[in-house]
Amino acid sequence: MNDNISFYNFMHKQIVVVIALFLGTGPGYILMGSLYSSVLVETLWYLLVICVSLWGYKLYKSYSLGMTIRAKNKWLLYVRYFMFVYFSLWTVIFLYYISKDDINLHYIAIATQLGSAVVASTILASQKHLVIITVTLLMSPITIFFLFIGETYSYLLAFFTIVLTFVLLYAAKNTHAYLLKSRFQAYHDYLTGLGNRRYFIEYLGSSVKENRDKYTYLLLIDLDYFKTINDTLGHDVGDKLLIEVSQRLTELSSVHHNVVGRLGGDEFCILSDAFDTKEICLARAEEFSNKILKKIKEAYFIEDSSLHISASIGVSIINNPKLNANDFLKEADIAMYEAKHSGRDDVIIFNDELCTIIEKKLQIERLLRCAIEKNEIYLQYQPQTTCDNKIIGCEVLARWKSAQLGMVSPEVFIEVAESTGYIIELGEFILEESIKTLKQWEIMHISLHQLSINISMRQLLNKDFIALVRGLFEKYNVAECKTKIIFEITETSTSEDLKRLITIINELKKYNIHFSIDDFGTGYSSLSYIRDIPAYELKIDKSFIAELDDKRQASLVKSIIDISKNLNLTTVAEGVETQAQKDFLANLDCDLYQGYLFSKPILKEDFEKLMQNN
Ligand code: C2E
Ligand code: CA
Ligand code: CA
Repeated sequence: MNDNISFYNFMHKQIVVVIALFLGTGPGYILMGSLYSSVLVETLWYLLVICVSLWGYKLYKSYSLGMTIRAKNKWLLYVRYFMFVYFSLWTVIFLYYISKDDINLHYIAIATQLGSAVVASTILASQKHLVIITVTLLMSPITIFFLFIGETYSYLLAFFTIVLTFVLLYAAKNTHAYLLKSRFQAYHDYLTGLGNRRYFIEYLGSSVKENRDKYTYLLLIDLDYFKTINDTLGHDVGDKLLIEVSQRLTELSSVHHNVVGRLGGDEFCILSDAFDTKEICLARAEEFSNKILKKIKEAYFIEDSSLHISASIGVSIINNPKLNANDFLKEADIAMYEAKHSGRDDVIIFNDELCTIIEKKLQIERLLRCAIEKNEIYLQYQPQTTCDNKIIGCEVLARWKSAQLGMVSPEVFIEVAESTGYIIELGEFILEESIKTLKQWEIMHISLHQLSINISMRQLLNKDFIALVRGLFEKYNVAECKTKIIFEITETSTSEDLKRLITIINELKKYNIHFSIDDFGTGYSSLSYIRDIPAYELKIDKSFIAELDDKRQASLVKSIIDISKNLNLTTVAEGVETQAQKDFLANLDCDLYQGYLFSKPILKEDFEKLMQNN
């Protein structure tokens, strides 16, 4: 931002201060006039002061924070003219008084002129050139006046006034530098020197207003896994990385006349120049974003090591003048959020459809938070049978019947719960309900060989999970139960989690809990995973069972069962819908069957009836 134009608010306040000062002290001249000369000239002069004050007051009123930068610059130019004219009025009266013979009038003239020079040097300090011109204009007539007297003492006084002029200008320069510095601190980020959130939002706001008929793009750039770098390599390295990223962004942006800011943390934003059509703007936005992705991915050399990082970018195309800066930032944020969720290292451009999806997600997120309290979450149980249709176990499946949304699939709400962390609370509720049911069944003499509960990875890896299980087991006295409790888990992607996972599994095994590898064959399957995890059971994903007609899928299922047998795991096939599927699996000696062929997931009471008949 240009130094000279960055003090709008400061100058705005100064207008009232000078008006009050000038209107308040001006009548002093009328009083002097009535004592020493004629009142007429002074009164006329004061009327002039009033007129110029009105001009100043109008300028004061016409200013608003929401003005565009261009409008503010224009306004500031008028304020400068006003200030110059206003201060010049004092020189006018000075010249008039010293032209008089009365020495008392000379004293008054010199004193007030000095006074107004001092005032100018403070009030106009933010305007570098204006202060120089005004102070010189106010001080030089005094110097010249002394020189014209032509006496030794007057030469000395002339010299003093010159010194004073320099002192005033020096003080003004210091104030200016101080104002600049504090303004810089208020509007810039200390680490990278880029404009901060406040600066960027003001800038964006004024750009939105200025380019009503044009198109600009706004990028929100968030580094991927920056937190991991901070946590593992330390904040010093994190800071250096941020500085380097900001330099790369600035370098790329300067070529395109784009403005970069840092919103905080590892979030940067860039605003483009204006384009005439939406198509051009979109094309440029995409082109530029891809350049940034590429540039950010280049290696960083920090403290003797080379680092790599990527970024996710959300783009908002700005055209609608009805929206404000924060609205556009929100759009870019939604797009960025989507880029993160679709695998990071990507650019997503905001559109209304995206907005609907995100709003729906946010609604689910909001409603889910009170679903347990409102008794909207309940459990269903799906039987697991042996080859000869004997029920030996069941899988607990969560259901959500929302008052507003109706039935919401667990595939949807479990994912939302996982991404928001609500799964900890929800999982705890499901676990407790399942254990309660198990206890009731024991009392009812419904004996099962196993009860399977789905446990999300985030829930399992939570630091309080083992304590939770221990607490519930004690509360419901589960240790004596004959039924095996199985935790169904899906595979995790990172090896770091794998080590922790194995530790936790081994810890929980002490409570006689068994583990089942769910959805085997999908996601991040790897053979080393089932080799390393001390599991009890393996569940073949229903997508394989659904396509058993396909020879290749059939042989894959055969291999999975072979592997499972070789590793001494119980094999469960889920999603068994037809007799043909079951026969095929039975031929391969699959251990357990779960699917619509035998039963859909059902309520507790129905499951109890089923068990009594079985
Ligand atoms: P999953 O663990 O793979 O659960 C099996 C899913 O297959 C269930 O879907 C079940 O209703 C469905 N299913 C069972 N038999 C058949 C069949 O013959 N044909 C077809 N087409 N589908 C069948 P559901 O209940 O919609 O659950 C979906 C997923 O939501 C579950 O997949 C699981 O990942 C998750 N989930 C459900 N309940 C819980 C829970 O309590 N905790 C956690 N963490 N996740 C849960
Ligand atoms: Ca499952
Ligand atoms: Ca499954």
